[in-house]
Parts: sequence; structure tokens; C-alpha cells
Amino acid sequence: MNLHEYQAKELLASNGVNTQKGKVVSKISEVEVAANQLKIETDTEFFVIKAQIHAGGRGKGGGVKVAKNLKELNDYSSSILGMMLKTPQTPKEGKLVKKILIAEDVYYSGPNKHSEFYVSILLNRSTSRLMIMYSTEGGVDIEMVAENTPHLIYYEEIDPSLGLMPNQARKVAFNLGLSGVSYKNMVKFISSLYNAYVKCDASLLEINPVLKTSDNKIIAVDAKMVLDDNSIFRHKSFQDYRDESEENPVETEARSVGLNYVDLDGNIGCMVNGAGLAMATMDLIKQSGGEPANFLDVGGTADADRVEVAFNLILQDPKVKAVLVNIFGGIVRCDRVANGIVQAYKNMRNKIKVPIIVRLQGTNSDEGKKIIDNSGLQIYSATTFSNLTERIREVLG
Ligand code: GDP
Ligand code: MN
Repeated sequence: MNLHEYQAKELLASNGVNTQKGKVVSKISEVEVAANQLKIETDTEFFVIKAQIHAGGRGKGGGVKVAKNLKELNDYSSSILGMMLKTPQTPKEGKLVKKILIAEDVYYSGPNKHSEFYVSILLNRSTSRLMIMYSTEGGVDIEMVAENTPHLIYYEEIDPSLGLMPNQARKVAFNLGLSGVSYKNMVKFISSLYNAYVKCDASLLEINPVLKTSDNKIIAVDAKMVLDDNSIFRHKSFQDYRDESEENPVETEARSVGLNYVDLDGNIGCMVNGAGLAMATMDLIKQSGGEPANFLDVGGTADADRVEVAFNLILQDPKVKAVLVNIFGGIVRCDRVANGIVQAYKNMRNKIKVPIIVRLQGTNSDEGKKIIDNSGLQIYSATTFSNLTERIREVLG
């Protein structure tokens, strides 16, 4: 589950991470009230107006503006709120800004120069360990840094049995070129960030920029946070963070009926029981020259109702040229699944415009195949993996 910047900052702040303070508003009439409160709480001179959408690069698209007076505050707020914000990460038409964050200005001048760093925490899947990725070159162009000067990006891997060790946090602060007060603040910042990541069951946490202020504070100015969907049950309050208008509507619908669906870019829709088999099926499609259009795990009960719901989800994707059903009948028998598929097909016959390929394997697979073959419907059966690849190749022409 992706979070908005203001939500991520709220979570981080409540977990002891020093963050830029702000108030989120969704109406122009709330802007001045928010700014006045913020002024009392933070003593800020200027305000930053930040569009809240699920995409980065907002600054470049005109979604982040610094206001130096009340007039600018109102002008920028009314131009950003309600705009279709286009950034390198949004769809072509942009994304509608429904909320803005009014934040304190933390780039004030003082005894020292301020500097911007990059810090993120993510899972390194090849070592199964969390790692802190960080760079002195923070700001808006971290992708360019990764491409042109990759040696300026550092990595620190964390042993899960030990957690982040104090010397590791110190190493990060040292490599970022800090000393004195800012060094101490960075060590504290890194360890609080790691603790927040673990405590919230995040799967990604990216702070760009982390700012060293002119008076040596270390502050999270931006925050991108992704929470692990499989952990949300442990954090009931996180449910409220979900912004369905920012999510894929088909994925939202699937979740509401308890199906595990992930939208992908390909042309072959898949309906499979079990995540492992689903992964194997996607590999098979690729090997046959196709591209999976989705990941869909229908789970243990592949009855007519569930199959119909699943067909409905898959067929909403206009890219789908064929649907592949790959079910292993263990507890659920293949003949029952076959009847379910035939029933579902009949119920929605006029909606199905693409061929359906079904492979049933396991208990009563022969009976299952007979039911499919004798149905008189445009459903192609297969029992082995090689049958299945042949069928996919036929469909793809
Ligand atoms: P992004 O463009 O979506 O990554 O949005 P960010 O939250 O990272 O903001 C983009 C840029 O706006 C930052 O890199 C800063 O340069 C600038 N910015 C953010 N907060 C402030 C602030 O308090 N004062 C000033 N002057 N600039 C800010
Ligand atoms: Mn940023």
C-alpha cells in the first residue's frame, strides 16, 4: 500500500523521526487557518505548498512551491489544489491534486550552508536483508546520480538477527561527510528511520531529500513510504491510509472480494490457484512468447462464483488476448472446477470475446478435461504443461 507524503510523515514523526512539519488541507478555505497554526507551532517565516499525489518528481512539475507571504500562499495553493499535476512518474494526463500539504520552510539561512542527502531503506532480495541506500547527492535527481555517478551511492546491509548496529548508523553519518552536531543528529535520524521501517512493516521507505539545515538539524523533507499489504492486518489503523482513488480499480475490486490480483502489462490473462503455481504459470507464458497480463491467485475454492468473479476482473483489461486457467486440483477436485468454469462461461458468455485455455491437473483431471471438451464452448483444454504452451502459441499465432 502506497502512502501520501503527509501520511508517511505522520507515521515517521510518531515513531520519533525528525520531519518537516505541516498540515494537510483539501479546501482553499482551510489554507490560512493551517498556515496560522503552523506558524504558532514552528515559528516558520515562509511556507511550502506541496501537492499530495502518489507520484514523485512533483517539484519539477510545479507541485511544490515556496510562499513568502500570505498572497503567495493563497495564489500557489489555489493553483496547485485541483490541478492535473504532470511529473515524469504520472500518467500522460497527470494526476488530480485533491490535497495539499502546507509545510514549514526548513531551507532558512543560518550559520552554515544547508545540504540535501538521499536515504532509503529497502529489501535486498538477493541477500534477503534490509539495506540502507544513501548518498550525499540528495535532491530531485537521484535517478541521474544512480546512472552517471553510481559510486556516489552507498549501501549498508543489516543483519536481521542483530538489527541496525550503532556503528552502522555512525558509518552512514560519516560517509555523508558530517561531523559535530549534525553527525550526532544524523546517527539518531538513521536509527529512528530504521526503527520506524521495522515497526510499521514497511516495504520501502525513501527520504529524498534528508536535509541538514543551516543550524545542523537533520530533517525528512520528503517521504515515500510503502507498507507491506500482507502486514496491514497487524495495524488496523493503517487501513485509513488507503487512498483507493490512487489505486488500480481492478486491484481494489479484487481485494474487496478477497482475491489476490496484480495488474501487469502483458496480453495473456491468468487465473491460477496458489501463488507458487501462479508464478510458474507466468514463467510458462513468457517462455511461450506471451506476456502475462496479471497475477491472479483464486485460492483454494475455485467454484463457479469465484471463477466468474475472476473472469470478470481479467476481462476488464482490454489488452487481454486470451485467458489461461491453470488449476491444480488437490482438495478441490478438477471435475468440480471444470463445472465451475463451464457454468461461469455460460453466465457471462456475451462478455467473453477471447479464447479460454484451461489446464486442470490433479484429482479427477480426466473427468475435468471431458467436461471442458464436451461443453461445446470456446474453451480449449490441456493437461500437460507442453499442451498448454502449444495452446498459447496457437492463440498468439
Ligand atoms: P518531489 O519533487 O516530489 O521529490 O518533492 P520534494 O518534497 O522532494 O520537494 C522538491 C524540492 O522542493 C526539494 O528538493 C526542495 O528543493 C524543495 N523544498 C522542499 N521543502 C522546502 C522548503 O521547506 N523550503 C524550500 N525553500 N524548498 C523546499
Ligand atoms: Mn523528493
